[in-house]
Amino acid sequence: MMREEVVMLCTSDIAGQIRGKGFPASDLAARLAKGIGWTPTNIMISAHGAIAPSPWGALGDLVIKPDPATRVRVDFGSDQAAEHFIMGDLCHMDGTPWPVCPRGFLKRVIEAIETRHGLKEKASFEHEFIYEAVEERPNASYALDAFRRQNLFAETYLGALKAAGLTLDTFMPEYGPMQYEVTVGPTIGVTAADQAVAVREIARAVACRMGSRVSFTPILRPDAVGNGVHVHFSLVDAGTGAAVNHDSHHPQGISARAGSFIAGMLAKLPAITAVTAGAAISYLRLTPNRWSAAYNNLGFRDREAGVRICPVFATEEAQVAKQYHFEYRAADAAASPYLALGAILAAGLFGLDRKLPLPKVCKGAPQNMSTAQLKAMDIERLPQSLGAALDLFEAESDLTESFGTELKSAYLAHKRFEAEMMAKLTPEEQCEKYRRVY
Ligand code: GLU
Ligand code: MG
Repeated sequence: MMREEVVMLCTSDIAGQIRGKGFPASDLAARLAKGIGWTPTNIMISAHGAIAPSPWGALGDLVIKPDPATRVRVDFGSDQAAEHFIMGDLCHMDGTPWPVCPRGFLKRVIEAIETRHGLKEKASFEHEFIYEAVEERPNASYALDAFRRQNLFAETYLGALKAAGLTLDTFMPEYGPMQYEVTVGPTIGVTAADQAVAVREIARAVACRMGSRVSFTPILRPDAVGNGVHVHFSLVDAGTGAAVNHDSHHPQGISARAGSFIAGMLAKLPAITAVTAGAAISYLRLTPNRWSAAYNNLGFRDREAGVRICPVFATEEAQVAKQYHFEYRAADAAASPYLALGAILAAGLFGLDRKLPLPKVCKGAPQNMSTAQLKAMDIERLPQSLGAALDLFEAESDLTESFGTELKSAYLAHKRFEAEMMAKLTPEEQCEKYRRVY
């Protein structure tokens, strides 16, 4: 039988979904030049299907302009379809960027950090997810047996990630029911978010070829531990590529520049959780004693901190400086990686622009500290619902320039619609809906 391979040209949208249009692989060269048509209102399609009130209605046309560097092609053998997709930027018909495009937003913020401060960001996304083919068993946490039960999934998944050009790091059974974790190596600029898309979509592609599915839902059930997306990041000099995060004179090793960047992030963390943790059930995960993040605190090797200073596997200064980095923990895969990284970097940029002083490192669990102690450290509890997070995001104005007013208002309209839809359901019903979507 004649077969024609199909390439999907995709965008990552406000709902954190990858949507796009396909074309025959034989047209690849032509499509790389001209892209494919798209509709503004598509970005208002919520995670659960219904379309949020759209400022564009049925009007307008856009084009998805592919970035060939993002092309993923994984061969699953002759009896299975190949997985072949490319990520692109949403542009007006004349090729100029559409200001609401999540990938375009991240690129703008990256460019601003480089032009204003001569710095580039290096990042990688650590993902947790559920593999539905394994049975739920007690005490499977980190267990060799839990690794074994996923059988060929991990081998095929890592092989496919490698084929897509990602640097492999780890794969492990995690603490939660049916939960696994995957990490890949860091990259500079927008590539880190492109690779987060690849990590999620290739996991889905492999599970699907095996007759099952994975879910990156923020939390499987209200009583479970969450599926976090931890964004590891550091800053490098844009000219030399040298790391600029470490200062051996600081007790926990933070340099002044990294300190300003982190201080901006901590100050804006309660507002940007609306973007980095954008599902109604994200707020079941962002609670104390779940090893996620419940406060905007900076922790030294603390797995409950909003931002964590990560451990370094070296003692020699040159190696320490190279490895020393931070981790933003209040994110999950309901967020487009472009929006999540863009929001985190926009907050960091705010800190750099204002030359904010080094933040204080929080020692101990904020939930055990008094109100006065928290206030002295500038620590706040993160918002406890999507609605509360959106209120903070709407009211905060320092980041509006980075987001742009059109993206910000589209995001708010989209997510308020989702929050209202979810408010009619019990937490258990919400979890079930999100499990099936992500
Ligand atoms: N599952 C935790 C979360 O929701 C993270 C556990 C870990 O530190 O890897 O973020
Ligand atoms: Mg983990």
